[in-house]
Amino acid sequence: MIHPPLNKREAQAYRYTQWGGNPKGNDYNPACCAYSICGSERGALPCQCSRKHGHGPAGLYCKQHSRVVADSAARTLAWLRGKQKLTADEKKELQKLEKIIEVKKV
Ligand SMILES: [Zn+2]
Repeated sequence: MIHPPLNKREAQAYRYTQWGGNPKGNDYNPACCAYSICGSERGALPCQCSRKHGHGPAGLYCKQHSRVVADSAARTLAWLRGKQKLTADEKKELQKLEKIIEVKKV
């Protein structure tokens, strides 16, 4: 998952199990972790994690995936902070990530 959703709005906009035969994909299920996982089989479609949510950004993730998401958010944040010039979108992204990291510390 390259851009995991970081709040409810993003999760609701995210399409799961999207492919040629199902171009619209599946809706986000708010009862489950928002992470999109790939099956272990070759060619398996990414689908929404079926574990219980309640951890990580906006409580969207299961315990296991909240760690994965926090790690990737921290890496992106470090990269953005190291950049000389940021575009408007990157500045927004930086602020969003800073909020997430703060929430994690509490
Ligand atoms: Zn999960």
